[in-house]
Amino acid sequence: MKADAVRRVVNQCVRCGQCRSVCPVFQEIRTEAGVARGKLALLRSFLEGKDVPEAELQGVLNKCLLCKTCGSQCPSGVAADELVLAGRELLAEKNGLSPIKKAIFTVLKNRSAFDFCLSMASLGQRFGVKRLKGKHLGAIARFPMPGLARRRIIPMFADKPLRKQYPEVIKVKQPKARVAFFTGCMANYIYTGAGQATIDVLLANQIEVVLPKMQHCCGYPVFTSGDAEGGRLLARHNIDVFSELQVDAVITVCGSCGSAWRHEYQRLLTDDAQYLKKLEGISCKTYDIAEYLTEVMPLDKTALGEVKAQITIHDPCHLGERGMGVTKQVRQLVSAIPGITITEMKQPGRCCGSGGSFNMAHYDLSREINDCKIADIAKTGAGLVITGCSSCRMHLTDGLVQNRKDQIVMHTVELLAQAYAAKQGREKHQHISS
Ligand code: SF4
Ligand code: SF4
Repeated sequence: MKADAVRRVVNQCVRCGQCRSVCPVFQEIRTEAGVARGKLALLRSFLEGKDVPEAELQGVLNKCLLCKTCGSQCPSGVAADELVLAGRELLAEKNGLSPIKKAIFTVLKNRSAFDFCLSMASLGQRFGVKRLKGKHLGAIARFPMPGLARRRIIPMFADKPLRKQYPEVIKVKQPKARVAFFTGCMANYIYTGAGQATIDVLLANQIEVVLPKMQHCCGYPVFTSGDAEGGRLLARHNIDVFSELQVDAVITVCGSCGSAWRHEYQRLLTDDAQYLKKLEGISCKTYDIAEYLTEVMPLDKTALGEVKAQITIHDPCHLGERGMGVTKQVRQLVSAIPGITITEMKQPGRCCGSGGSFNMAHYDLSREINDCKIADIAKTGAGLVITGCSSCRMHLTDGLVQNRKDQIVMHTVELLAQAYAAKQGREKHQHISS
């Protein structure tokens, strides 16, 4: 968004303060800097040329989860999260990124370098971390890691990235459809079980899976930090890779990746007619896995075996009502599994406090926000939390361990894969590789 457009939209805020009653950050810190009204007032003054210290503005804009809760309740229809992003972009254009973000994103934007660094991290973690015992498959950092609080629970990197575990095309006999799987970084490098489950479930439904090796990070951490040019670079790369494929659909397993394809790439490439056209052909057939298996290719319910569990569902900001609108589809899928009981939280769509890099920059605050969610989960009595976002999963798992709770967190599709495996007597689906 250009400065003129930001100024125009910022002025639509009538300062009613309604956002104060819903903003998770404000509910913890109780200062105007935490809430949309205060952020927009400071941004407005900055754009009007008033004497606003840029470091202060940057700090205020960074203290936002981009959870969209304020926008969903704003009587003037102001999407504060978009203005916060626009403000971050204006500052990044003017002053550049912080040295640490610059260094991280330089590696991230280079696919080979990023892959190499994460492979090294996967090896290094064998020596530097203490594995948790019990149900939580995580790790405790033994030494201070840059950007991570020492007490924090982080998941292990997979020994082998998902995309190196499979051929580029995973065939089935007489396929009903052919889809491309956009894994995102988390399902590729960390939660590979969710990626494997996605492939297993698609194959169990006679759907051929294309797993493009050249795909790369959706760019979410980059463009939400204000590096719009970096976001465009990654968007164009992924658009080039996926527009080459002859597939019926593109499947995502993370709300942020799905939102990038559905909404953010369009915003980033608004002045690039050539790529907008290419994007149109992909974004119209991009679905979250829960959407795809309910609305496009309804899953084979007869092949689902019993999984006895009482579950509760966390709706991620970018996947749920305020994002891709995928909530009822998740419930439809898990309700189809024999033996599953769903007990809803009071606020399943309340932000978990992760907010991309927010939880790194403001760990203690993100923990306080997360504690409300953990209390909500605990009240349900469920032993399993289902979610469709790996970043939420990581933050929820950390919160459960910090609060000494026994629940585990899993991706929706992993529960489905368990149900299919239960029916097949735990035999793996036969893959025909090419
Ligand atoms: S952002 Fe919306 S809800 Fe918040 S003060 Fe402005 S007009 Fe009111
Ligand atoms: S997007 Fe979320 S964290 Fe940011 S101001 Fe709005 S409600 Fe608060």
